[in-house]
Amino acid sequence: MTINQLATMAQMGGQPLIVLSDDSQRTSGRDAQSMNITAGKAVAEAVRTTLGPKGMDKMLVDSSGEVVVTNDGVTLLTEMDIDHPAANMIVEVAETQEDEVGDGTTTAVVIAGQLLKRAEDLLEQDIHATTLTQGFREAAAQVSEYLEEGAIEVGPEEEEILHKIAATAMTGKGAEGSKDLLSQLVVEAVRTVADEDGIDLDNIKIKTVAGGSISDSELVDGVIVNKSRVHENMPKTIENAKIAVIESPLEVAETEVSAEINVTDPSQLEEFLESEKEALRSYVDTFVDAGADVVLCRKGIDKFVQHHLAQEGIIAARRVSKSDIAKVSRATGARIVHDVNSLTAEDLGFAGRVAEREIGGDDELFIEGIEDASSVTLVVRGGTEHVIDEVERAILDSMGVVRTTLEDGIVLPGGGAPEVELALRLRDYAESVGGREQLAIEAFAEALEIIPRTLAENAGHDPIDSLVELRSQHDAGEFGAGLDAYTGDVIDMAAEGVYEPLRVKTQAIESATDAAVMILRIDDIIAAGDLRVSRDDDEEEMPGAGGMGGMGGMGGMGGMGGMGGMGGMM
Ligand code: ADP
Ligand code: MG
Repeated sequence: MTINQLATMAQMGGQPLIVLSDDSQRTSGRDAQSMNITAGKAVAEAVRTTLGPKGMDKMLVDSSGEVVVTNDGVTLLTEMDIDHPAANMIVEVAETQEDEVGDGTTTAVVIAGQLLKRAEDLLEQDIHATTLTQGFREAAAQVSEYLEEGAIEVGPEEEEILHKIAATAMTGKGAEGSKDLLSQLVVEAVRTVADEDGIDLDNIKIKTVAGGSISDSELVDGVIVNKSRVHENMPKTIENAKIAVIESPLEVAETEVSAEINVTDPSQLEEFLESEKEALRSYVDTFVDAGADVVLCRKGIDKFVQHHLAQEGIIAARRVSKSDIAKVSRATGARIVHDVNSLTAEDLGFAGRVAEREIGGDDELFIEGIEDASSVTLVVRGGTEHVIDEVERAILDSMGVVRTTLEDGIVLPGGGAPEVELALRLRDYAESVGGREQLAIEAFAEALEIIPRTLAENAGHDPIDSLVELRSQHDAGEFGAGLDAYTGDVIDMAAEGVYEPLRVKTQAIESATDAAVMILRIDDIIAAGDLRVSRDDDEEEMPGAGGMGGMGGMGGMGGMGGMGGMGGMM
């Protein structure tokens, strides 16, 4: 709505007078509710088939033909370029989840969609939206308490369970085949960057290399500088290296304006060249005197200097990027020096080893073996670019759960166990509340069971059978009973090693509830444009389909073109 339209909504003589521009569109009451619910549900339905270890991937093709193949909820939704406002509130659920805990994005969105679906049923039975949202809020408020009873404490030194947590987050993603190795690398990486200020995952750089096998991935406890040695006579490896980091050029200073030198006899020219050489030679002497083994220069290095550095057995690289310079300085303790002649031994940084190694067809310098490394590099190799991109996303999820676990120290068994347990307890609780709110709380409980149901469905098992068995085991006090997605059996998830941080669940349910409540409370939509028409073209579409246009051409997702048709799918 524009400011002008708002201004015209001012009270006139006690009567609200609303004047909207011609192309504005207003939808009120049940129509507004059902339009938003339909849009929200459609978004959730679109990601539902990707949930769990046996979930399928989706291929997204954008208008320029760029292809993304992914199983990751938040990636899917952000790539889909959705612009229906209610649908976007659901996308925000995924984004919040990603920011807060890094995993559980599909779970959060699927629960949000199911809350809307259950709410729709109750609205049809003339239960008021306010009663509904109140019931949802009350149910959500019980979640932490109920879940904490089944919580498992995990200390930072408990390698084995940390590996399992890391591996659970990778299950069903491109990384699955090498999840043993990758989860080990992830745990090691996250622990390395943890310090008293917390865990900043930005200190873990992921370097993806297409080609080779995922199992050749490795963790470098340091920094990789994306440059090779400047001279082939320089050593390839130096152990216990002292590193100089230089901001200025190791060349003869070039004058701003082209200078002219007048020489009257050859000896003058000789003298001039000699003085230039001396200046260059003094650079090399400075490095030797300070005891540097490695020189990383932000700018160029003169051929003469290169040659003499090589003779002194020093590794040098030139035109190192500003960010690499900063990283090396941070990691090794090297001071960034602007005037080479002022360099002393104190300015040098230290690394256990500096070595030039081939990576993805390029030679690069590995600055590694850094004690108390504040930053590490995870080198992830594997198949094609599409494969490696998806592996990277799985690793990011995995890093997120390991960080969350180290921060909170509490995990839960996965495989739908928490949702079934919650549903059971919420049904008891609902009875104690009574009245119409009881119905809302029961609807909430049922909505949570969409997770075990979907896990079963995606794995090709009968969702009803699975749910019945799950409920009965939880009824018998088996908090950890979850669905083995591979066999369809209901087993103890803790014994199976399927764990998720508690916060992944509490956050997912909390943000799903927030979004559902927000959508349900809306009974009036005033849009400046026409929501029925997609932004890019004038093709008439069903309400709420605007902006899904990018997906329109895709077979399996064709349903998104007209959300009206999605109603029966959840
Ligand atoms: P999300 O984006 O919500 O993390 P995922 O596709 O990663 O979605 O699926 C997560 C769900 O899969 C969780 O409920 C988790 O407990 C379950 N899960 C993961 N590994 C297993 C497994 N080996 N067996 C059963 N369930 C699993
Ligand atoms: Mg996950």
